[in-house]
Amino acid sequence: MKVMLRKVTKTPLDFEVKSGEMTFKGYLEYYGGKLILLHANLNGSLEKSCDVCANDFKLEVDEDIKFFISDGLYKDDGTIELDVVESFNGFVDIDELLNSEIELIRSDYHSCGYCKDIETLEF
Ligand SMILES: [Zn+2]
Repeated sequence: MKVMLRKVTKTPLDFEVKSGEMTFKGYLEYYGGKLILLHANLNGSLEKSCDVCANDFKLEVDEDIKFFISDGLYKDDGTIELDVVESFNGFVDIDELLNSEIELIRSDYHSCGYCKDIETLEF
């Protein structure tokens, strides 16, 4: 799903995209200047290999995601507390955002339920 950034107004524009068992649902809203706010919830489960035992397991995900999308180059003047993602073609590709969020979660440290139990026993 591609959204033209200039078409995003103060009226929240809802979106919902899926990838595998993950659902990315939220809205885009014009903030000011070149900035558009994205606020969404990432929910579902994904296959990941455990960082301790390397076995595949299902990771349950439920994350609140909030960042800005800039229509063009963004100069950070320190007034914005959220991350800013720049778009240079005037569009935002929601499916692409979902995939990069999934990659981000995959690259984080996660252990499977079994290893987690052991970790808790040790401490
Ligand atoms: Zn494990």
